Amino acid sequence: MVVGTGIGGALAVGGRVLHNRRDNFGAIGHMTVRPNGDRCTCGNRGCLETVASARALATKTATAEQVAAAAAQGDPTSARRILRAGRELGLAISSTLAFLGFSTAVVGGGVAGALPQMLPAIVAELDDRTAMLGTCHVHPGALGPHAGAGAIGAALWTLEGP
Ligand SMILES: [Zn+2]
Repeated sequence: MVVGTGIGGALAVGGRVLHNRRDNFGAIGHMTVRPNGDRCTCGNRGCLETVASARALATKTATAEQVAAAAAQGDPTSARRILRAGRELGLAISSTLAFLGFSTAVVGGGVAGALPQMLPAIVAELDDRTAMLGTCHVHPGALGPHAGAGAIGAALWTLEGP
């Protein structure tokens, strides 16, 4: 998963990224987590992206990064925003893992800097919802905030092909 301004995803099996004709395989950011939630850029309501992306975490006066920093400093309002986003991410990740029978998710992107703060909520959701899968893991992406860089994806696409 790439959690940045929006939320994207991909599925990898046996070391190969899976593709489909529309190239939208793994669009986890548009998984509905709140059926009556806010309108998403895709036209749906309550997509994960509307509650856990950088755009969703930002306030009128603070960026998502600033909200995460304030949460780390103990601001309770910011901490609640981060916790709620972590729960929603955990809900979407656990649903995805259960559907696919996977046990590992990797989270990177611009909001991944807040992952240590979100991780307890994500793990709690996984523990509650994926008992049938055994132990599931969420790892920070090795590329951190650069995971969403289109140039990296384009370069890999060129090297690996569809
Ligand atoms: Zn959407």
